[in-house]
Order: sequence, then structure tokens, then C-alpha cells
Amino acid sequence: MAEINAHKISKSYGKTQALHEVSLKVESGELFGLIGPDGAGKSTLIRILTTLLLPDKGSASLGDYDVVKDYKQLRRMIGYMPGRFSLYEDLSVEENLQFFATVFGSSIQENYELISDIYHQIEPFKKRRAGNLSGGMKQKLALSCALIHKPDFLILDEPTTGVDAVSRVEFWDMLHKLKARGITIFVSTPYMDEAMRCDRVALMQDGKIMAVDSPGVIPDRFPETLFAVKADDMYRLKIHLEQSGKLQSVKLFGQFLHVVPDKGFGKDELINDLENQNFKGVYAEQIRAGIEDVFIRLMAKQEEDDHAK
Ligand code: ADP
Repeated sequence: MAEINAHKISKSYGKTQALHEVSLKVESGELFGLIGPDGAGKSTLIRILTTLLLPDKGSASLGDYDVVKDYKQLRRMIGYMPGRFSLYEDLSVEENLQFFATVFGSSIQENYELISDIYHQIEPFKKRRAGNLSGGMKQKLALSCALIHKPDFLILDEPTTGVDAVSRVEFWDMLHKLKARGITIFVSTPYMDEAMRCDRVALMQDGKIMAVDSPGVIPDRFPETLFAVKADDMYRLKIHLEQSGKLQSVKLFGQFLHVVPDKGFGKDELINDLENQNFKGVYAEQIRAGIEDVFIRLMAKQEEDDHAK
């Protein structure tokens, strides 16, 4: 079975502890997302799972193979797309693909069918040097290169960072097609909206996994009432709400402030208060939390817990 198991993995770089006893399980054939901001420890975990870095403590396996003991077998079974520098910029599109196929003792022809959908889109540029491709095209080539040896596991480290919005959507469509072929996919991203396209996600911060669940139910982990609030003068609104003493949190989300009121302070009280303060264009509605709200709440809770220690 093509499962991924990590058991209490810890890893430090000097004084920086990048991973604290991280455990998780990815089911065979699952599209699993690792979501977290810069520095959360995503790349470190991915490098350990792809056998490129040794854990200080803990263990991990992909299928029946251990990432430390069985690294040779695993490297043939894993398709890895690192965040950067996976392509040879001086080689052409075609040469890059040829190179990765050869390294794994395969050929483009042998596994063309698996990548045809993706490669087809860059094939017109096959003589172009990889360094001269757009971000979206580089990403498609890197994905083709990661797949050319027909891996059981596809592990992608922030594949959509620095890629335009349209290419990001196309990329996730491609991942879904690969999942439909039974490949287990583990993908990290700093973008919360991409969480929605995963079967399950792990929310990661400061080297710890804070929650693992399907993205549709993660908002249920936000038990408080939440309002989206807006007024013409957003700057003054934010300061006023932060200083009001009646709210537990105030966070800016795009063009709204998301606020959690104290008990007994409802929508009417909120609107009355803002109108009394002469705010114009006041809007306040109760909303369902999104993954970002849950993330921020879990982060604040983790900080409180860390301080309490
Ligand atoms: P992410 O991929 O979520 O951005 P990383 O795994 O790259 O997180 O980093 C986790 C932490 O480890 C960060 O504090 C980062 O600065 C640190 N770190 C990562 N790689 C190294 C390294 N080679 N040497 C020292 N510190 C590192």
C-alpha cells in the first residue's frame, strides 16, 4: 500500500528546532496538503520524507519502506518536486525530461502516457532552454520531470509559489487527474485557498502539526461567533475595534475585519456602537469561519500555551 507514515519526527538545525515530534498518516491514494506559513517546517518534513535529510529522532515510512534504511528503493518510488532549482536552466525542455528519465533508468517514451496531458502543453517549446520558460511552464516541466519514472508517491514542496493564479488552478486540476490514477500525493503550500482542493490537510506552525482534517470540516474547529465588519474608514475602524474592550480578536481579511465578540455583544450592539462613533458605510454580518480563521486561532492558542509553559 502506498501510505505515508511519520512517527514523532524531530529535526534541528543548530539551535533552531524545525520539527517537534511530528506524526502524521497519509492514506494510500490520498491528496494530502501540508499548509503553513514560511518557516513552519514544511520543507524540512518533506526532505525527510523524500530521504534527502535524516531525522534526529522518530521514523517515517512510505509504503513498506523506511526513509532511512530503505532510501535506495524509495528514491525510485518517489517523484519529488522541490520548491526551487529542480530544473537545469541551461538544458532545453526536452533535455531536462530526458535527463530525469535516464537518471531513473527509464525513457520518455516508456512513461509518456502518464505525463502526456501535462507535457503536451509545453511540448511546442521543447527546444527552449528551461531558464527561459515562464513560471507556469517551468512548473509543468518540473512536474513532468518528477513523474517521468512513474512514481507511486508524488511529493511537492510549494509547487505553486511564484506562479500566476490561472496556472495555480490548472496545476491543481493536474494533481486531481494524477490522484485519479492512484498516486499518493503530498503537497505543501502557504496558500490557504489551496487547502480546499485537498482530501485532508495538516495545519503546521513552528514545527508542529496543529490540526489534521478534511478542509470542509476544519472550520468547525472555530467554536466562537465570528463577524465580518467593514466601514468607510477601515484604519480607524480597526483601531476602534481593537481598543473597544468588547472583542476577543480583530484580524484584517482582505477588505473586511474578522472579529470575535465577547459573549452578549451581538450584531446589533456592534452596529450601534459603530454608528455612535460616527462610522459611515457600516456593514457587519455573522459568517462561517474559513481555514485561515481557524489557523490564526490555533496559532494564537499555541503561542498562549507556549507562554504558559
Ligand atoms: P517552510 O518550508 O515551512 O518554510 P523550513 O522547513 O524551510 O520551513 O524551515 C523551518 C525552520 O528551519 C525555519 O526556522 C528555517 O529558518 C530553519 N531552517 C531550514 N533550513 C535550514 C538550514 N539548512 N539551516 C538552518 N536553519 C534552517
